[in-house]
Amino acid sequence: MTREEKIKAQTIVCGKCGCDAEQTKRHIHLFVDESWQVHPSKRFQAWWQEHPEFKVSLEDGKGISAMTAQNAKHIWQEYLEAKEIGLA
Ligand SMILES: [Zn+2]
Repeated sequence: MTREEKIKAQTIVCGKCGCDAEQTKRHIHLFVDESWQVHPSKRFQAWWQEHPEFKVSLEDGKGISAMTAQNAKHIWQEYLEAKEIGLA
């Protein structure tokens, strides 16, 4: 994805999530410059809710958020593999 494509994609996602102009600007910066995605998809969220690591993380009362999980490389990789074989 080029920088322009990333900006366009993030603008669409932020629009769907109801971010205002200032939030959208910040989210574009995070996505384009820091490779950090602040809006996990519904599909990812649903998959993460059933993940053993999420369930374990709930035991200490907090729980790892879908946003944090999505930005963890090993979890993201696992999600892509699960999607590929129809488990997400
Ligand atoms: Zn946003």
